[in-house]
Formats: sequence, structure tokens, C-alpha cells
Amino acid sequence: MNLSTSGLIIREFHVGESDRLVTVLTRDFGLIRAFASGARSIKGKKQAGTQLLSYGNFAFTERKDTYRITEAECLDVFFALRSDLVKLSLAQYFCELCGALAPEQDDAADYLRVMLNTLKFLETDRLPALQLKAVLELALLSLAGYMPDVSGCAVCGAKSGPMGLDPVGGVALCQNHLTGRCLPLSAGTLQAMRHITGAPVERLFSFTLSPAGMQELGAASEALVKAQLERSFKTLDFYHTLSATE
Ligand SMILES: [Zn+2]
Repeated sequence: MNLSTSGLIIREFHVGESDRLVTVLTRDFGLIRAFASGARSIKGKKQAGTQLLSYGNFAFTERKDTYRITEAECLDVFFALRSDLVKLSLAQYFCELCGALAPEQDDAADYLRVMLNTLKFLETDRLPALQLKAVLELALLSLAGYMPDVSGCAVCGAKSGPMGLDPVGGVALCQNHLTGRCLPLSAGTLQAMRHITGAPVERLFSFTLSPAGMQELGAASEALVKAQLERSFKTLDFYHTLSATE
């Protein structure tokens, strides 16, 4: 069977001397793990087209449950990300998170658009890294069915004022119903979370927040990722190590 679609390489392993096993986040078929064999067997600019963070059009063949990339037309390699170790490490976390959340054998167009927009903003310094990270985390969680319910307090339904976020329950709680594991959500941060979890992909980044609010948002989104997925991410730990020394 042959498949053609656009996609982004989110993981790569070198296998032997000239082969690579890559994971592609594809628009039409979700995550596909595929071999990219030696340069001669693939048409087009394969070497650039099948490295981590390459976006392009791909053709795959499938035989006995093994996919191979037969064509790779590279459209963007996010070149400026590759020369900045901190940005690159954040981009690698975005890829690892996407690999944990995106579906297989299903439409993943929104995942791909969120990833491409976020990587482009990161590459061009259009928005602060903390905002990009929080938006991507909340957007991917929401797409994958882990959307936090921040419409109001989960106990009494109160909708306004500062609240807390329970990352394990994935809910907001008012000042009267806070528990020990809640993270603070000021009114502005709460509004930003409501925006991100309700906005269409093209409007995800259209909000402003004070630096303090952005810190809260970043802490809340990261806590949600870890609590909802019940795991940590090596690439995230590495990013924190690097960004702390900046
Ligand atoms: Zn309440």
C-alpha cells in the first residue's frame, strides 16, 4: 500500500550506516514510524527531508506492517532553531510531547498545524518561549482528550475571581474549595486558559498576559501534562537544565 501526505519528522534514530527509523506526524494518518533507507533509494532531497524537525511532503510504502519513506519533498527545516541549543531543546520537547499524544492511523491535521505554528513562532522569536510552551501543552492535551475544565469551580460552579487548578483532576477550584495540590490561577491566567482551550488553532496565540500571569500559566500547563499523562519527559528536563543557565 502507498500513502502520500504532508508531515513533520518528530523523532529519528540512526539504524546501521545509512538508514534511519523516523516518526512522522502526518496530516492525514497521524503518527507513522517509517524507515528512511540510504540516500540512493529515495527520490528528492532525502537527507534533509528526513531529519528531525523537517516538514514536507512524504510518500510511504507499507509492506507487512513496515513503512518505508520512498519520497521526501522538504518544505521547511526550521533552520534557525538548529543553531540555538535552548530553542532546539524546547522544540525536541514539543516533538516528544506530540509523539505521546497524537493519534495513529487517524487525521492529525490540527496537531500538525499547532506544531508548525509553534515551531515557526519559536524560530522567529515572535512570542516568548514560555507562552509557546504553555499554549502547545494545553492545545495538544485538549486535542488528545485531556482538556482541563476551567469553566468554573468543579465543586460550586463559581466562575469568577482567582481560582486554583487541580492538575490531577484537570479542574479549576474556587478559593472556598481549594485543595493542597492546587496551583494558583489568577483571574487573568484563568481567562488565558479558557481562551487556549476554546480557541480554533489559528487563534490559539491571540492573548496577552502579564509576566507573572505567564509564569502561572506555564506552571499550570506543565503540571497538567505531568499529572494527566502520569510521566515526565527527558527532553523537558533537559530544556529546564539549559534554560536555567541562560
Ligand atoms: Zn467552589
